[in-house]
Amino acid sequence: TRRKLVAGNWKMNGSLGALSELDAIAEAAESHAGVDVAVAVPSTLIAPAVSRVPALMIGAQDVHAADKGAHTGCISAAMAKEAGARFSIVGHSERRADQSETDADVKAKAEALRGQDMQAIVCVGETLDEREAGRAEAVVTAQVAGSLPEGASGDWCAIAYEPVWAIGTGRTPTADDVAAMHGAIRAKLRAMIGDVADRLRILYGGSVTPDNARELLHVSDVDGALVGGASLTAAKFVPIIAAAD
Ligand code: 13P
Repeated sequence: TRRKLVAGNWKMNGSLGALSELDAIAEAAESHAGVDVAVAVPSTLIAPAVSRVPALMIGAQDVHAADKGAHTGCISAAMAKEAGARFSIVGHSERRADQSETDADVKAKAEALRGQDMQAIVCVGETLDEREAGRAEAVVTAQVAGSLPEGASGDWCAIAYEPVWAIGTGRTPTADDVAAMHGAIRAKLRAMIGDVADRLRILYGGSVTPDNARELLHVSDVDGALVGGASLTAAKFVPIIAAAD
């Protein structure tokens, strides 16, 4: 059976002052021992977050695929690791849109994380136009096929299904729609990597709140959540952690 993973994504939010939110989040992670908890903070906050709450799994929101070189403004997996990150999100829809990241880019980033013994959360998800055109499953399973790193296994790689139209909108798919998509992702993974697929966690992300977390986290094939806005404060994130237990 797969342990649930509740991961926060602070996106371009937070400050040194906001790190005080991590105290109660780290306490909740300790008291809900059946749930894995992680928070992806802006890269400037990785080291101070780790020094404030060393037991909490802190990660990055993106890494470059290369080890080093002429890539102004980017950080490598090794740099994130040196700062204390144990994982990174890769292929978030905001980066696929804003930085034109392709499936091949995302796959290479995830493989760079593996090279540093770090974990990867690989994001996929359809736009509203794609869903309305009846193409959601085809789009998402193609993203999985193109983005899944070599050697993906449950101990270092998770998939996050985040419908673009559900991110930051307060809209979520129905439980049935989530079950159907997570089932389709699982089937795609099985076709690609066989039984190993049964140990990969598939997270749901997009407008997860304390109010809907319990329902979403108990849909079949949902192995956790990737939480944006509601991960910024302990008051909202801690109940989501509790709902996963
Ligand atoms: P929200 O939870 O703010 O909708 O963001 C979801 C997300 O994009 C997490 O990566």
